[in-house]
Amino acid sequence: MTVKEDKDAKQKPFAEGLFYQPTSSSEKPHLIGSKCSVCGYVSFPKTTVCPICIKEGTMNEVALGTKGKINSFTIARVAPQGFEAPYIAASVDLPEGPRVFAMITGCEPLEEALEIGTEAELVIEKLREDEEGNEVIGYKFRPV
Ligand SMILES: [Zn+2]
Repeated sequence: MTVKEDKDAKQKPFAEGLFYQPTSSSEKPHLIGSKCSVCGYVSFPKTTVCPICIKEGTMNEVALGTKGKINSFTIARVAPQGFEAPYIAASVDLPEGPRVFAMITGCEPLEEALEIGTEAELVIEKLREDEEGNEVIGYKFRPV
């Protein structure tokens, strides 16, 4: 068994189909949403039925969410199991339309650290460790 010698901890996304993690440094991560070919409605997460047209087959997968603007945020002082508190939880408006709820990274978890309207970029980071010591990864936003 060489599991312990593996220098990279195993990583696994917290959910399938929500985001793309680059395999090289020349790429940027993005969220996976969908866009209606009829009315232009954009959803995140992706969906198969446009909620405006109420029709199947019009939603196509799109890359979105490389950047967004902080719409509101709060300092979470109590964390769910496996997470570290305090942290900033925010809703982020994507230029494509959807509003995404995510953790904020790359700044102190303080009220002064952010402002409404702050631009932030998408990053893929460890969210927590699971019971087997694997890194559970997900998307966060980092102020720019
Ligand atoms: Zn539509």
